[in-house]
Amino acid sequence: MRRTVTVAGAGMAGLVAAARLRQLGLEPVVLEKGTRPGGSMLLSSCVVWRHREWERFRAECPGGDERLQRLVWERLDGALEWLEALGAEPVWRDTENPLTTGRRYDPRALTALLARDVELRTPLPTHAEPPLVLATGGFPVRFARERGLLLRANRWSDGGGLAFARARGAALSAGMDEFYGRAMPAPPARIRESDFVPLAQLYGRWARVYADDGRDVTPAHVSWSENDLARLIGPGAWYVLDDAGLERARERVEAARAAGGVVLDPRDLPFPTPPGSRVAVRVASAVTHTIGGLRIDEQARVLREDGAPLDGLWAAGVDAGGIATGGYASGLAQALVLGLAAAESLAAS
Ligand SMILES: Cc1cc2nc3c(=O)[nH]c(=O)nc-3n(C[C@H](O)[C@H](O)[C@H](O)COP(=O)(O)OP(=O)(O)OC[C@H]3O[C@@H](n4cnc5c(N)ncnc54)[C@H](O)[C@@H]3O)c2cc1C
Repeated sequence: MRRTVTVAGAGMAGLVAAARLRQLGLEPVVLEKGTRPGGSMLLSSCVVWRHREWERFRAECPGGDERLQRLVWERLDGALEWLEALGAEPVWRDTENPLTTGRRYDPRALTALLARDVELRTPLPTHAEPPLVLATGGFPVRFARERGLLLRANRWSDGGGLAFARARGAALSAGMDEFYGRAMPAPPARIRESDFVPLAQLYGRWARVYADDGRDVTPAHVSWSENDLARLIGPGAWYVLDDAGLERARERVEAARAAGGVVLDPRDLPFPTPPGSRVAVRVASAVTHTIGGLRIDEQARVLREDGAPLDGLWAAGVDAGGIATGGYASGLAQALVLGLAAAESLAAS
């Protein structure tokens, strides 16, 4: 008889773990709290990537667990080949970013390829029996709610996997107060899930940034991902652009305006801005995923405080924490590699 395994969450991590478990002769049942499979992957740009240079990864995410970072960095290329052998066709074989390497997929096609035996509208029950792979997508919903930030993730990832494992003695990783985010047009802009990518206000490096009280909080340096800026702006701030900045940002500024966002002549702000300021856009920080999560080892086994693995419990994707701590790395790469690692370790157990 085939061994049955429960996988909680039908995002990239859960679906990959299930597909690999099937290949290894087990029978996964995927429980999905939401009304559709795909999780945040379905809403994403679906670029699965790693830094080209290992040193750059370490430098950009200095607080992350080096062993887990190595695992993702070293296994990603092989994992992408595995995905391709399964039938996933990349739409690009490049990330269009000289600092990174990877593949871009069509998120709908990838979800359709991977989603099998998914029980929708079925949250992980508190009494679920091991063996279990937790892949519920971290806790961006709670994180955003508690801090008054916008949500830019699937609307069901509210820490279900985390709570389940914590109740069984799991330890937490570093970075529980960190998130990967984007600046989005602040309310009253209307942002639907399909707007998560096109409405991102990804031009902060060319803007001056002002807090609501008029303080100029423009950082001396902004990272290429602008994740640091998204963390800085919080529930509301202003991006102020001059002509040169507006030239680069026009499309996204117009998208913010069309969505009902606040786009002003800087002279209408209640504080002064430098001569030459052309437009002010009200932005707010939106949470794409959490960075901290369950502490795991390289086999994706959930660890206790004393470092020993918890019996029958694995975590993959952003339910696992401590990889991109201090910076930003590909959430999809983490989900793909850890989904495979969890399945392989579970099958060998
Ligand atoms: C707009 C956007 C763009 C992005 N672009 C990129 C990109 O280009 N590259 C990249 O690397 N990353 C990107 N990301 C991030 C990436 O999508 C996520 O990091 C990744 O999808 C996380 O995968 P996961 O499987 O861990 O979690 P998720 O995809 O969040 O899946 C978790 C699943 O678990 C379900 N669930 C939640 N709670 C429970 C429960 N209690 N019981 C059962 N099921 C539950 C959820 O409904 C969800 O389906 C983007 C994200 C967004 C939103």
